[in-house]
Amino acid sequence: MIGQFDTVSGAHFAFTDRWGGVSAVPYEELNLGGAVGDDPDTVRTNRELAAKSLGLDPELVVWMNQVHGADVAVVDGPWGAADIPSVDALVTARRGLALAVLTADCTPVLLADPVAGIAGAAHAGRPGMVAGVVPAVVRAMTELGADPARILARTGPAVCGRCYEVPADMRADVAAVEPAAYAETSWGTPAVDVTAGAHAQLDRLGVRDREQSPVCTRESGDHFSYRRDRTTGRLASYVWLD
Ligand SMILES: [Zn+2]
Repeated sequence: MIGQFDTVSGAHFAFTDRWGGVSAVPYEELNLGGAVGDDPDTVRTNRELAAKSLGLDPELVVWMNQVHGADVAVVDGPWGAADIPSVDALVTARRGLALAVLTADCTPVLLADPVAGIAGAAHAGRPGMVAGVVPAVVRAMTELGADPARILARTGPAVCGRCYEVPADMRADVAAVEPAAYAETSWGTPAVDVTAGAHAQLDRLGVRDREQSPVCTRESGDHFSYRRDRTTGRLASYVWLD
Protein backbone atom coordinates (compact mmCIF):
# COMPACT_ATOMS: atom_id res chain seq x y z
CA MET A 1 0.00 0.00 0.00
CA ILE A 2 1.10 3.53 -0.65
CA GLY A 3 0.47 6.65 1.41
CA GLN A 4 -0.09 9.68 -0.79
CA PHE A 5 -0.29 13.28 0.42
CA ASP A 6 -1.43 16.07 -1.88
CA THR A 7 -1.51 19.80 -1.24
CA VAL A 8 -4.01 22.25 -2.70
CA SER A 9 -1.00 24.00 -4.22
CA GLY A 10 -0.39 20.95 -6.43
CA ALA A 11 2.48 19.21 -4.68
CA HIS A 12 2.34 15.43 -4.30
CA PHE A 13 4.29 13.28 -1.87
CA ALA A 14 4.02 9.47 -1.69
CA PHE A 15 5.63 6.77 0.43
CA THR A 16 5.34 3.03 -0.13
CA ASP A 17 5.30 0.26 2.41
CA ARG A 18 6.18 -3.35 1.63
CA TRP A 19 2.73 -4.57 0.57
CA GLY A 20 0.93 -4.69 -2.75
CA GLY A 21 3.66 -6.01 -5.07
CA VAL A 22 4.71 -9.31 -6.62
CA SER A 23 8.18 -9.98 -5.15
CA ALA A 24 8.85 -13.25 -3.34
CA VAL A 25 10.50 -13.74 0.07
CA PRO A 26 12.66 -12.00 1.30
CA TYR A 27 11.63 -9.04 -0.90
CA GLU A 28 7.90 -9.46 -0.37
CA GLU A 29 5.98 -7.82 -1.70
CA LEU A 30 6.57 -4.37 -3.15
CA ASN A 31 10.34 -4.23 -3.53
CA LEU A 32 11.22 -1.23 -5.68
CA GLY A 33 15.00 -1.52 -5.46
CA GLY A 34 16.86 -2.80 -8.51
CA ALA A 35 20.17 -3.57 -6.80
CA VAL A 36 19.22 -5.80 -3.89
CA GLY A 37 19.16 -9.23 -5.56
CA ASP A 38 15.50 -9.33 -6.57
CA ASP A 39 14.42 -10.39 -10.06
CA PRO A 40 14.64 -7.37 -12.44
CA ASP A 41 11.35 -8.16 -14.18
CA THR A 42 9.62 -8.38 -10.84
CA VAL A 43 11.03 -5.02 -9.78
CA ARG A 44 9.88 -3.50 -13.07
CA THR A 45 6.39 -4.86 -12.48
CA ASN A 46 6.39 -3.45 -8.96
CA ARG A 47 7.48 -0.03 -10.20
CA GLU A 48 4.67 -0.07 -12.74
CA LEU A 49 2.13 -1.11 -10.11
CA ALA A 50 3.27 1.66 -7.77
CA ALA A 51 3.27 4.31 -10.49
CA LYS A 52 -0.20 3.35 -11.67
CA SER A 53 -1.62 3.47 -8.18
CA LEU A 54 -0.25 7.02 -7.94
CA GLY A 55 -1.67 8.02 -11.30
CA LEU A 56 1.84 8.38 -12.73
CA ASP A 57 3.25 7.22 -16.04
CA PRO A 58 6.03 4.77 -15.04
CA GLU A 59 8.20 6.31 -17.76
CA LEU A 60 7.98 9.67 -16.00
CA VAL A 61 9.35 8.41 -12.69
CA VAL A 62 13.06 9.21 -12.40
CA TRP A 63 15.32 7.02 -10.27
CA MET A 64 18.97 7.41 -9.32
CA ASN A 65 21.93 5.21 -8.55
CA GLN A 66 22.36 6.10 -4.89
CA VAL A 67 25.87 6.05 -3.45
CA HIS A 68 25.58 7.73 0.01
CA GLY A 69 27.11 10.96 -1.22
CA ALA A 70 26.00 14.58 -1.56
CA ASP A 71 25.94 15.09 -5.33
CA VAL A 72 22.79 16.42 -7.01
CA ALA A 73 21.62 15.95 -10.59
CA VAL A 74 19.25 18.30 -12.42
CA VAL A 75 16.81 16.30 -14.52
CA ASP A 76 14.19 17.36 -17.08
CA GLY A 77 13.08 13.99 -18.43
CA PRO A 78 13.61 10.24 -18.22
CA TRP A 79 17.20 9.01 -18.24
CA GLY A 80 18.40 6.73 -21.00
CA ALA A 81 18.87 3.21 -19.66
CA ALA A 82 22.65 3.64 -19.45
CA ASP A 83 22.58 7.20 -18.15
CA ILE A 84 21.29 6.87 -14.60
CA PRO A 85 23.63 9.09 -12.59
CA SER A 86 25.35 8.07 -9.36
CA VAL A 87 23.93 10.78 -7.13
CA ASP A 88 21.86 11.00 -3.97
CA ALA A 89 19.62 13.89 -4.91
CA LEU A 90 17.59 15.05 -7.88
CA VAL A 91 15.94 18.35 -8.73
CA THR A 92 13.61 19.20 -11.56
CA ALA A 93 11.75 22.18 -12.95
CA ARG A 94 9.52 19.91 -15.01
CA ARG A 95 6.01 19.63 -13.63
CA GLY A 96 4.64 16.10 -13.81
CA LEU A 97 8.05 14.46 -13.61
CA ALA A 98 8.25 12.35 -10.44
CA LEU A 99 11.51 12.04 -8.51
CA ALA A 100 11.99 8.78 -6.61
CA VAL A 101 14.21 7.83 -3.67
CA LEU A 102 14.89 4.24 -2.55
CA THR A 103 15.41 3.47 1.12
CA ALA A 104 15.32 0.77 3.76
CA ASP A 105 16.15 2.76 6.96
CA CYS A 106 17.79 5.84 5.41
CA THR A 107 15.74 9.03 5.38
CA PRO A 108 13.97 10.01 2.16
CA VAL A 109 13.68 13.81 1.93
CA LEU A 110 11.04 15.14 -0.46
CA LEU A 111 10.88 18.85 -1.32
CA ALA A 112 8.61 21.01 -3.45
CA ASP A 113 8.14 24.70 -4.17
CA PRO A 114 4.75 24.66 -5.90
CA VAL A 115 4.94 28.37 -6.82
CA ALA A 116 8.24 28.08 -8.66
CA GLY A 117 7.41 24.58 -9.93
CA ILE A 118 10.61 23.09 -8.56
CA ALA A 119 10.79 19.65 -6.92
CA GLY A 120 13.68 17.94 -5.18
CA ALA A 121 14.37 14.58 -3.59
CA ALA A 122 17.28 13.34 -1.53
CA HIS A 123 18.47 10.03 -0.12
CA ALA A 124 19.80 11.02 3.30
CA GLY A 125 21.35 8.15 5.18
CA ARG A 126 23.89 8.80 7.88
CA PRO A 127 26.81 9.36 5.45
CA GLY A 128 24.77 11.53 3.10
CA MET A 129 23.32 13.65 5.87
CA VAL A 130 26.82 14.21 7.26
CA ALA A 131 28.18 14.95 3.77
CA GLY A 132 25.52 17.62 3.27
CA VAL A 133 23.12 16.16 0.73
CA VAL A 134 20.23 18.07 2.31
CA PRO A 135 21.75 21.56 1.96
CA ALA A 136 23.01 20.55 -1.50
CA VAL A 137 19.55 19.70 -2.80
CA VAL A 138 18.01 22.87 -1.34
CA ARG A 139 20.81 24.91 -2.94
CA ALA A 140 20.19 23.24 -6.30
CA MET A 141 16.48 23.98 -6.05
CA THR A 142 17.21 27.62 -5.15
CA GLU A 143 19.45 27.95 -8.19
CA LEU A 144 16.47 26.91 -10.34
CA GLY A 145 14.27 29.56 -8.75
CA ALA A 146 12.84 27.96 -5.61
CA ASP A 147 12.53 29.95 -2.39
CA PRO A 148 13.28 28.02 0.83
CA ALA A 149 10.47 29.92 2.55
CA ARG A 150 8.02 28.33 0.09
CA ILE A 151 9.52 24.83 0.05
CA LEU A 152 7.38 22.06 1.54
CA ALA A 153 9.51 19.31 3.05
CA ARG A 154 8.33 15.81 3.90
CA THR A 155 10.53 13.04 5.25
CA GLY A 156 9.45 9.43 4.94
CA PRO A 157 9.69 6.19 6.92
CA ALA A 158 13.20 5.71 8.33
CA VAL A 159 14.97 4.06 11.23
CA CYS A 160 14.39 6.20 14.30
CA GLY A 161 16.95 7.57 16.72
CA ARG A 162 15.95 5.07 19.41
CA CYS A 163 16.83 2.17 17.07
CA TYR A 164 19.88 3.34 15.11
CA GLU A 165 22.71 2.08 17.30
CA VAL A 166 26.24 3.16 16.38
CA PRO A 167 29.64 3.10 18.12
CA ALA A 168 30.22 6.04 20.46
CA ASP A 169 32.96 7.53 18.28
CA MET A 170 30.66 7.46 15.25
CA ARG A 171 27.95 9.26 17.17
CA ALA A 172 30.50 11.86 18.21
CA ASP A 173 31.63 12.34 14.60
CA VAL A 174 28.04 12.73 13.37
CA ALA A 175 27.09 15.09 16.19
CA ALA A 176 30.15 17.23 15.49
CA VAL A 177 28.63 17.94 12.07
CA GLU A 178 24.96 17.91 13.10
CA PRO A 179 24.26 18.11 16.84
CA ALA A 180 20.55 17.40 16.34
CA ALA A 181 21.43 13.87 15.24
CA TYR A 182 22.86 12.92 18.63
CA ALA A 183 20.64 10.17 20.05
CA GLU A 184 20.47 7.22 22.39
CA THR A 185 18.84 3.85 21.76
CA SER A 186 15.86 2.70 23.78
CA TRP A 187 18.30 0.26 25.39
CA GLY A 188 20.66 3.04 26.45
CA THR A 189 23.53 2.89 23.94
CA PRO A 190 24.88 5.52 21.50
CA ALA A 191 22.70 6.19 18.48
CA VAL A 192 22.10 8.70 15.72
CA ASP A 193 18.84 10.22 14.51
CA VAL A 194 19.37 10.98 10.84
CA THR A 195 15.88 12.33 10.30
CA ALA A 196 16.27 14.80 13.17
CA GLY A 197 19.56 15.89 11.64
CA ALA A 198 17.98 16.40 8.23
CA HIS A 199 15.16 18.48 9.72
CA ALA A 200 17.63 20.63 11.66
CA GLN A 201 19.53 21.27 8.45
CA LEU A 202 16.33 22.19 6.61
CA ASP A 203 15.33 24.52 9.42
CA ARG A 204 18.63 26.39 9.26
CA LEU A 205 18.15 26.79 5.50
CA GLY A 206 14.80 28.47 6.10
CA VAL A 207 12.60 25.49 5.15
CA ARG A 208 9.92 25.72 7.82
CA ASP A 209 6.94 23.81 6.37
CA ARG A 210 8.10 20.34 7.34
CA GLU A 211 6.47 17.07 8.28
CA GLN A 212 8.01 13.80 9.38
CA SER A 213 6.63 10.29 8.94
CA PRO A 214 5.92 8.68 12.32
CA VAL A 215 7.04 5.29 11.00
CA CYS A 216 10.27 3.69 12.19
CA THR A 217 11.23 1.14 9.56
CA ARG A 218 13.12 -1.07 12.01
CA GLU A 219 10.09 -1.28 14.29
CA SER A 220 7.46 -1.64 11.56
CA GLY A 221 6.79 -5.06 10.06
CA ASP A 222 5.06 -3.26 7.21
CA HIS A 223 8.30 -1.68 6.01
CA PHE A 224 11.66 -2.89 4.71
CA SER A 225 14.53 -2.42 7.16
CA TYR A 226 18.12 -3.14 6.24
CA ARG A 227 19.28 -2.96 9.84
CA ARG A 228 16.66 -5.48 10.92
CA ASP A 229 16.71 -7.89 7.97
CA ARG A 230 19.90 -7.21 5.94
CA THR A 231 18.70 -8.96 2.77
CA THR A 232 15.46 -7.18 2.03
CA GLY A 233 13.63 -4.89 -0.38
CA ARG A 234 13.55 -1.13 -0.78
CA LEU A 235 10.76 1.34 -0.18
CA ALA A 236 10.25 4.26 -2.56
CA SER A 237 9.31 7.84 -1.90
CA TYR A 238 8.02 10.06 -4.73
CA VAL A 239 7.56 13.80 -5.19
CA TRP A 240 6.02 15.62 -8.14
CA LEU A 241 4.19 18.81 -8.99
CA ASP A 242 1.12 19.46 -11.10
ZN1 LIG B 1 12.77 2.83 15.92
